[in-house]
Amino acid sequence: MPDPHLQTLLSLTAADALGAATEFKTPEAIRARYGETFTDYQPGSVFGFAPGEGTDDSQMTVATLLGYGRGGGLESVLAALRAWLEAGPPDVGGLTRAALRSGTLDGGVRAWAESGFQSAGNGGLMRIAAVWVAGFTGEVLARESATVTALTHADPRCVSASVFLTAFLEALHAEQPYRNAAEAALRVMDGLDARRVLLDAGILGLTTRAAHDTFRERERQARAQVRARVRAGLEGHVTSQSGFVLDTLEAAVAHAGAASWLACVEPAVLRGDDSDTVACVVGAMAGARGLEVPAHLLPPLCLGHSWPGWEREWPCTEHFPAVVAAARDRD
Ligand SMILES: [Mg+2]
Repeated sequence: MPDPHLQTLLSLTAADALGAATEFKTPEAIRARYGETFTDYQPGSVFGFAPGEGTDDSQMTVATLLGYGRGGGLESVLAALRAWLEAGPPDVGGLTRAALRSGTLDGGVRAWAESGFQSAGNGGLMRIAAVWVAGFTGEVLARESATVTALTHADPRCVSASVFLTAFLEALHAEQPYRNAAEAALRVMDGLDARRVLLDAGILGLTTRAAHDTFRERERQARAQVRARVRAGLEGHVTSQSGFVLDTLEAAVAHAGAASWLACVEPAVLRGDDSDTVACVVGAMAGARGLEVPAHLLPPLCLGHSWPGWEREWPCTEHFPAVVAAARDRD
């Protein structure tokens, strides 16, 4: 019986690497260059990723796992994300860079405040499957999902989207039908006092009072927006594959209920825009469902960056097992 956490990590990385070639392209340009189907890694990444290389999404997922594997919880995850950034990756999201600059747990909150409380990109959602892969379950999973997201993305829409996603992965793994799993995950999101969790973790605090008040004012509406977008996704609706967290979540939910791994991932890749991130989130969902990654996509799979704890030329199939095992044995 294959390890579901390891399979999910391979699945999200393979999906991210497939989407790397089509990121920022239009569906028309993608069809003109690659044709109507997209079943293997291709050149053409705007960031220079080679075919088969995972982008920042899967790199930061692995960095998070490396952080857990070193013990020390949230501080250790933050240090691991900073080590990834300091090694100069080809692609880093704007809010992620600003958030990790300070090296303090409230860096994400401060970056959100600097954006005028506007930034709500998908940079937290894209890497949060790491928390489920690390073996957290239930209420602890929901709390960990909120805090690890807020290290870079503290808007309540970002935090709620992540809490939904990790609960969804847990429910999908428990083999609930897709729609039931989504509704169960929405109940987990609604039941979490995310503001209290961020306060207890030292992410929100006295020095970030305005952020705290803004979070409190907007959290109820944020949950309602996530609920509406998840339900739209369940009906197959895709507003856009933009980098806005709610667009990414809706698109991923719309794609990831299909019958096979490729039927889930391929539409995300062919639609372009932030296709690697949408595909990565779809890959996490498909992996948790137990859908098998096509065998030809596994041997060439690598990550497109070297940083302390990871080398760019390492095959994921060889090195992921130890990363997952160390994260799971964190205590
Ligand atoms: Mg990316």
